[in-house]
Amino acid sequence: MDLKNIFKFLFKGKKPIFQSAYIIINPAAGKQQIKWFLKSAKSFLNRLNIRYDYALTRAPRHATKLAQEAVKKKYDIIFAAGGDGTINEVINGIVDYGGILGIIPLGTVNILAMEMGIPLNPVRSLNILLEGQIETIDLGKSNNQYFVLMSACGIDSYTIYRVNLKLKKYIGPFAYIFAGLYSLFKYKPKKIIIDIDNHRIDEIGYYVVVENISAYGGKLKMTPYAQYNDGLLDVCIFKRYGLWDVFRYFIGIALAKHIEYPDVIYYQCKQIKMHSQENVLLHTDGELVGSLPVSISAVKKKLKILVPRPLNK
Ligand SMILES: [Mg+2]
Repeated sequence: MDLKNIFKFLFKGKKPIFQSAYIIINPAAGKQQIKWFLKSAKSFLNRLNIRYDYALTRAPRHATKLAQEAVKKKYDIIFAAGGDGTINEVINGIVDYGGILGIIPLGTVNILAMEMGIPLNPVRSLNILLEGQIETIDLGKSNNQYFVLMSACGIDSYTIYRVNLKLKKYIGPFAYIFAGLYSLFKYKPKKIIIDIDNHRIDEIGYYVVVENISAYGGKLKMTPYAQYNDGLLDVCIFKRYGLWDVFRYFIGIALAKHIEYPDVIYYQCKQIKMHSQENVLLHTDGELVGSLPVSISAVKKKLKILVPRPLNK
């Protein structure tokens, strides 16, 4: 079937939800992939009579600026075409202006797309312009930075710090596994002092993950009880730091057994504050954003997002 016939088949007289769209593309997806995507997207959007424009990001945080401008220019929907890092940047540009987020999975890691049931084929993902609906979901705010997936500190931030970007270009998510193994032996754990909901709970840990959703990476569920519409953040605190303990945690997470460990503490909360005597790196949605101290809050029903089907979670 050629493109024209595929579209005819897909449309079946349906009308799009939006009249205009702005697409922000992370060029890390590769020239060939982007060329193929744009060609298909243009004919798809033209056929739907959707006014559109697009831009490629040129530097870190550029997507935030582009997204902010697009929402001020009154585009109905702003698409982030990239991975979770690009989505995070777009969210930070639109959310305080009431912009609506669309996702085109073109990145190395597409956890949010998987969580929302968005087709991982970038062209097919556009089809939700016909069949989708808008949902409003929670976000987290880590200091001044919004996140949709997670914010964490300890060994995984160090892993992100160690990821070789050239290697990531060639082997994708496996670059994180290599960096993770390296970190396992190289990272020197640092004590993190934790205050949950204004001292309702005080804890000490060496690795802390704060999640808005249950997924962590691939199919791993770090916080199995997390929901993105309950106004709460789910927290996993890993309390020990020996090499054997960290190895045990890795295995526990892989087998979804870690929350049964007596030295892994699980909480649900509205706010968590963390600090350390040492320099502990922090990430939000897989992008390094600085070091502790941090104050992280749940922000209920904050992000409008286009999803392909009702979210009954
Ligand atoms: Mg929640």
